[in-house]
Amino acid sequence: MRRRFFQDVPESDWLSYEWQIKNRIKTLEELKRFIDLTPEEEEGIRRTRGIYPMAITPYYLSLMDPEDPSDPVRLQAIPRAVEMDEKVQSRGEPDALKEEGPIPGLTHRYPDRVLMVVTTFCAVYCRHCMRKRIFSKGERSVTREEIDIMVDYIRRHEEVRDVLISGGDPLSLSLEKIEYILKRLREIKHVEIIRFGTRLPVLAPQRFFNDRLLDILEKYSPIWINTHFNHPNEITELAEEAIDRILRRGIPVNNQAVLLKGVNDDPETMLQLSRKLLRIKVKPQYLFHCDPIRGAIHFRTTVDKGIEIIRYMRGRISGMGIPTYAVDLPGGKGKVPISPSYVVRREGDKFIFQSYDGDLVEYTIDEVT
Ligand SMILES: *Cc1c(COP(=O)(O)O)cnc(C)c1O
Repeated sequence: MRRRFFQDVPESDWLSYEWQIKNRIKTLEELKRFIDLTPEEEEGIRRTRGIYPMAITPYYLSLMDPEDPSDPVRLQAIPRAVEMDEKVQSRGEPDALKEEGPIPGLTHRYPDRVLMVVTTFCAVYCRHCMRKRIFSKGERSVTREEIDIMVDYIRRHEEVRDVLISGGDPLSLSLEKIEYILKRLREIKHVEIIRFGTRLPVLAPQRFFNDRLLDILEKYSPIWINTHFNHPNEITELAEEAIDRILRRGIPVNNQAVLLKGVNDDPETMLQLSRKLLRIKVKPQYLFHCDPIRGAIHFRTTVDKGIEIIRYMRGRISGMGIPTYAVDLPGGKGKVPISPSYVVRREGDKFIFQSYDGDLVEYTIDEVT
């Protein structure tokens, strides 16, 4: 098993989620002991303090190459000065997707689905986070009273069938609070499915070595998990074991990646990510274009790059492995898929298609009446 930097830590500690959280690296001095930091990173850690703080689990740190400043895990977790640069701070909005609504923590964008944000705590503060605005609020989770207010809203809205619980990381909450939320939601007849958006399989997979947590998730079925692998290097033996334990409890796991400049904006990288995801039985569901979030805009690449990646995958991996590439529209107008076009020309029922390998194929598709 690969375990860079922490060879002396006993196995029982390394496999403990609580140990991973307690020993998160949060300061420049601590991080310097492991990584040969660039001036850009050192300045980044200083300038983001209190605004976009840093926290890195020993496990996630162990995936970094200490000698490569462009390591994909390193780019996602270590602050860089560019986050605070005028050109990044002056563009984008803290809440570009208009999530903040009348009920704190609740966003009701689509009729059938609501989003609940239940904590600002994360195991690792991803530098590209779409909710970077909440980092500076400190680590705080919702109280039972606040949960009750959200649950009351959902009870009064019978059109809601699907509740997406996010954060921060919702599975970082205490087991008591996780169970409280699930129990209250399950009292509502019209709530059909519950989804957790959690990056813990990537950042601290040890969380899922806790059978009591898995018992709770299994008990309130149907529950789905959306997770967030961005790079093939993140799919380790421990991550695979976490996913396996989740799947064995009847909880499907989908992946939502974000297209990030320098991290995964490369067709072969994304192909390898999808292949590794299918091998651990995680469906690559979405590839999101990076949102115009203040402090994260330097991760943005072009839509042409996203289309190129999706086109590259077709023909090289099963359709199951090709995520839906999507942008989240500004002003809370929701997600829209973007797809390469395979229709070159159309005249009535006659189509000219381009096949995955570039051939033009004429095909008349008419209705049989
Ligand atoms: C993304 C999102 C959802 C869920 O969308 P799906 O396509 O069902 O995954 C729901 N509510 C909000 C506010 C969202 O941003």
